[in-house]
Amino acid sequence: MIELRTPSEIAELQLAGAFVGRVLEATRDAATVGMNILELDALAHDMIRAEGAESCYIDYHPSFGASPFGKVICISVNDAVLHGLPHDYVLRDGDLVSLDFAASVGGWVSDSALSLVVGTPRDEDLRLIQLTEVALAAGIEAATVGNKIGDISAAIGDIAHAAKIKVNTDFGGHGVGRVMHGDPHIPNDGRAHRGLPLRAGLVFAIEPWFMLGTDKIYTDDDGWTLRSRDGSRGAHSEHTIAVTDDGPLVLSARAS
Ligand code: MG
Repeated sequence: MIELRTPSEIAELQLAGAFVGRVLEATRDAATVGMNILELDALAHDMIRAEGAESCYIDYHPSFGASPFGKVICISVNDAVLHGLPHDYVLRDGDLVSLDFAASVGGWVSDSALSLVVGTPRDEDLRLIQLTEVALAAGIEAATVGNKIGDISAAIGDIAHAAKIKVNTDFGGHGVGRVMHGDPHIPNDGRAHRGLPLRAGLVFAIEPWFMLGTDKIYTDDDGWTLRSRDGSRGAHSEHTIAVTDDGPLVLSARAS
């Protein structure tokens, strides 16, 4: 079901988004060579408790997950690109890390992700991260009243195609509201002028994620972490946005 949010509901969603943004900033800034990624999960968990927020992940158990997630943030390193289950792993120089975080504040959810390199970056990793950020910006720019969902998908896909990146459309953007995942689904590639017309009050996450060498993924033995089939690295950028009469509003905007 597609729900439209009122301006006062969007203001509440923005509070959730601001919290999610703060957690991503804190975990991003804390991620350094030599740090165990379980510490990043603990940091996010502490912030959830301090805020009185609720984790969207810890009890999350969809059909594609082997068991409840059990952690509060997805941390995907190098060839892991989505749904990275935090485990006992110490970050190494040059690791490409994707952080994906969603939480509910006052009953409203926000979902956002970013990628970074710890230590000395490889140029190709920085380019891949930047590509997901450019694609996210293009997708957001297309999220205007009068456009359709396909315009967002096409805007993201165009950025990928221009960079010779193949796009996996199994996982993509999604409606956000009282729960983390709702309609509509927003693939990271598609045909312009197709699909649901965008109306003021629609709230959804847009989340381009790309892998350098492939569009194929497989599930790690942990039952959650999705890795590139060819071992190439992945990156991920995501914001929760609202379509408004004044244009797209980024609800999970970060101060930095
Ligand atoms: Mg997310």
